[in-house]
Amino acid sequence: MEKIFKSDEEWKKELNEFQFQVTRKKGTERAFTGEYWNNHENGIYKCLCCGEELFDSTTKFESGTGWPSFFSAIAKDKIETEVDSSLFMKRVEVHCKKCNAHLGHVFDDGPKPTGMRYCINSISLKFEKRD
Ligand code: FE
Repeated sequence: MEKIFKSDEEWKKELNEFQFQVTRKKGTERAFTGEYWNNHENGIYKCLCCGEELFDSTTKFESGTGWPSFFSAIAKDKIETEVDSSLFMKRVEVHCKKCNAHLGHVFDDGPKPTGMRYCINSISLKFEKRD
């Protein structure tokens, strides 16, 4: 996969302020405010910044958190994780491997078959409906 590197100035030209804060500065949208936490349509969730296909609606589940939640990514090599010790908690941050966009965090309290819960900001994603 060819990675994408852009400066903050370049990203700012393509993203609105909130999109920039979340995807490039590891911000978080407020629970139950995003576009996709309650989306039940069939389709693919792509990276807002680079368009890479990251999550499939078939792995989406009701987490009750107010953020779209998935038990796996479309493929392991689509995303990368990194330990995040901010906010006095040890969490695992998730970002797009191709463009480094911050997506959310992953926890190990998810459902079967993986037991993982990818808790993702709606604003970091762009949903494409599948017929
Ligand atoms: Fe990306």
